[in-house]
Amino acid sequence: MMSIRENLNKIKSTLPEKVTLVAVSKTKPVSDLMEAYHGGQRIFGENKIQEMVEKYEAMPKDIDWHMIGHVQSNKVKYMASFVRLIHGVDNFKLLKEINKQAKKNDRVIDCLLQIKIAEEDSKFGMSAADASKIIQSKEFSELKHVKIVGVMGMATFTDNQDQIKKEFRFLKYTFDELKKLITENFELQTISMGMSGDYELAIACGSNMIRVGSSIFGDRNYTN
Ligand SMILES: *Cc1c(COP(=O)(O)O)cnc(C)c1O
Repeated sequence: MMSIRENLNKIKSTLPEKVTLVAVSKTKPVSDLMEAYHGGQRIFGENKIQEMVEKYEAMPKDIDWHMIGHVQSNKVKYMASFVRLIHGVDNFKLLKEINKQAKKNDRVIDCLLQIKIAEEDSKFGMSAADASKIIQSKEFSELKHVKIVGVMGMATFTDNQDQIKKEFRFLKYTFDELKKLITENFELQTISMGMSGDYELAIACGSNMIRVGSSIFGDRNYTN
C-alpha cells in the first residue's frame, strides 16, 4: 500500500500546472492531514463545518481551508474568520449570511456557486439560469463581503463515462456563459469539478480545481 505522501505526489505529478488540487480530508484524523501537509499540501477540503473548525485549530496556520459540503446558514459564523473558499453556495439566502459573517470579520469570502449538473435528485445545486439571475441582481451587487470566483459541480454517481462527460461539459459551458457577466463582486476563474474517480475526465473537460479524497487518504470509514 502506498503512503499518503506517495499518493499525493503521484497525483500531483500528473496534473497540468493550472489545476489546483484540494485534498479532501473529511473523516480523516489530523495525523493523516499532517502527513499530506509535510508532503507539501496546503489546501484541504472538508464537508462539515464543525470538523473543519477542529482541524483548523489543531493545524498550522498556513493552510487554505475549503468548505466543499452543503452549508447550513446557521453554521457559517463558525468558519467565517478563516475559510478560504466555500464551494457549495446554492442559494441567495446563504450568500447573504456569508456576507454578513464575513463583514463581522472584516473580510471578503470567496465563493463558488454550486450548479446542479447531475440527473439525480439528491445532489444540491442551482440551475444555470438561477445563477445568472442572482449575479445580475441588485441585491447581489450590494454584498460587498462576498466574491463569486467560480462554479462547482458534482456529476452523477455512475460508471457511464459519456454521461459524466456530458455533465462536466455542461458545467464548463455554464462557466463560459456566466463569465461574460460583469459585476463588481464577481470574477470567474475557478471551475471546481472532479473527484477521485473522475478527475482526469474533469480536467479534460476544462476543470481547474479538483477535489480528491480517497485517492490520497484511502477509503473512508463512515461507521466509526
Ligand atoms: C467527499 C467529496 C469529494 C472527494 O471524494 P473522493 O471520491 O474521495 O475523491 C469531493 N467533493 C465533494 C463535494 C465531496 O463531498
